[in-house]
Amino acid sequence: VKEYKVAILGAGGVGKTSIVTRFMNDTFSNVYIPTVGNHYTQLMKITGGEYYTLEIIDTAGAYEFPAMMDLSIRTSQAFVIVFAMNDKKTLDRALAFKQQVVDIKDREDIPIIFVGNKVDCGYDEMQVNPAETEAMVKINGYLYLEASAKYNINPKLIFSQLISQGLSIPLAD
Ligand code: GDP
Repeated sequence: VKEYKVAILGAGGVGKTSIVTRFMNDTFSNVYIPTVGNHYTQLMKITGGEYYTLEIIDTAGAYEFPAMMDLSIRTSQAFVIVFAMNDKKTLDRALAFKQQVVDIKDREDIPIIFVGNKVDCGYDEMQVNPAETEAMVKINGYLYLEASAKYNINPKLIFSQLISQGLSIPLAD
């Protein structure tokens, strides 16, 4: 069984914990094991057959401790970078997180999926342009998905797409 260490990054309040919780509870609640400090382990089967052990680090709350954040990035091989569709500032933060990952790993070709969460927000609340954002992140070969932890849109797809991408791009050290 291959192991993937995935860190969830993003500004406070964008829905990181909600996405992870939704993913865990709706798909494999019987096998998820919360460990110390927002650490979860999850067995996952992707389309095509193979099983993977996903170790998910929810970095919520780690921001007061930059050294801890650095360590989470250093020890993770793939990244879910979350922002909220109804808050443009969180997209800027997401891009800053991407840069931090690239700097720490010292390479660009890292399995990363950008997630525009809270896609359920009303049209009038929408501050992020989906097509522009997708085009921007895809320049670097990164993945992009919109999601709603609230309505259970795409939490599982986030992780399966990230794993599939990890099959074609070597995982970060
Ligand atoms: P975190 O700080 O990034 O871990 O964010 P949380 O998961 O704690 O969520 C922050 C707030 O956003 C909470 O009030 C959630 O209920 C809410 N939230 C999370 N996901 C969604 C979503 O998809 N849609 C909406 N409308 N609210 C959400």
